[in-house]
Amino acid sequence: MAKDYYKILGVEKNASKEDVKKAYKKLAKRYHPDINKESGSADKFKEINEAAAVLGDDQKRQQYDQFGTADFSGFQGGTGGFDFSDFMRQGQGSEFDFDSIFDGFFGGGMFNQGGRKRRGQRRGSDLAYEIEINLEEAAKGAEKHITLPKMQRCDECDGKGGSDSVTCDECRGTGSSRQTRRTPFGIFSTVSTCSKCHGEGTVIKNPCRSCRGTGVVEKTKKIKIDIPAGVDNGTQLRISGEGEAGEKAGPSGDLFIRVHVMKHKIFEREGDDLHMDLPINFSTAALGGEVDVPTLDGNAKMKIPQGTQSNTIFKLKGKGIPNLRGYGTGDLKVRAIISVPSRLSRNQKELLEEFEKESEKEDKGFFGRIKDSF
Ligand SMILES: [Zn+2]
Ligand SMILES: [Zn+2]
Repeated sequence: MAKDYYKILGVEKNASKEDVKKAYKKLAKRYHPDINKESGSADKFKEINEAAAVLGDDQKRQQYDQFGTADFSGFQGGTGGFDFSDFMRQGQGSEFDFDSIFDGFFGGGMFNQGGRKRRGQRRGSDLAYEIEINLEEAAKGAEKHITLPKMQRCDECDGKGGSDSVTCDECRGTGSSRQTRRTPFGIFSTVSTCSKCHGEGTVIKNPCRSCRGTGVVEKTKKIKIDIPAGVDNGTQLRISGEGEAGEKAGPSGDLFIRVHVMKHKIFEREGDDLHMDLPINFSTAALGGEVDVPTLDGNAKMKIPQGTQSNTIFKLKGKGIPNLRGYGTGDLKVRAIISVPSRLSRNQKELLEEFEKESEKEDKGFFGRIKDSF
């Protein structure tokens, strides 16, 4: 017969995740074997955790609601991996962080980190680094070198922390010590981390001097960063394993590179497209012609049709930024800004005066036509 997890936690079928969490925290505090010395509290506590592990996880809860069973062995990410002894180790000390324990149920962060680690090993921290590049580098990609101080594996002891690792005599290698108490309700035992080996089960006879037994030392490292073409402001790159080394030869963290693209003096970026304003001589705009346009690959020629008005936008296909995920390349959008000369030569002035006289004739015709319509 399947257990009723809702009943165990004392919540309604439609309880929110917050309600489930609240109920769990209340019950976990009441029944934690280190707090509650009544017999049966450990079983009750186990049951509460089992219920919270299912109801606290959207996917598992949905499966539970649908199939009415706690046996998820046939499903991906079932409760099969729930390790109660791991949980006990998490709850060491007098203060229990039930919040983080509960949060660990979904996402599996605390319990299922891709297989069990060897005792005493710790994954190294992730590192974050900001890098500044210019727009050309963002468009074409770049190779950058950074120098980073970080915890790295100790060469002296090869990350082991020392030589002659021997089994802890206090806990006989189990990493935990068990205290058995006789109470009016029966024999009750609690498990806690071994104080001598800190749960590792082994102690190092000769700790390494250069790393003081941790297996890691701080050193600077030069790291090559390949920046792919198409990165934008705020793009985050992950360099796997280039974070800090883990203690006692544990796995390394990752290095996250946050890209900052500097402002360009000509181009403004919008997604994969570039925008720019291009001053065009008023006579070229009127007569039509060809102009030079700066692009990220040097100058390009662009045709200006006769009678081009200010603010007309021309598109140079494929002269933008390549898409980071490989979906083609953006365009360069050129806005024509018709420029009027502020100084004229005598000859230019005469020609323009001639031009104006010619225009006035047309204008008269134009105004004449308006008059006729009244
Ligand atoms: Zn020990
Ligand atoms: Zn060392």
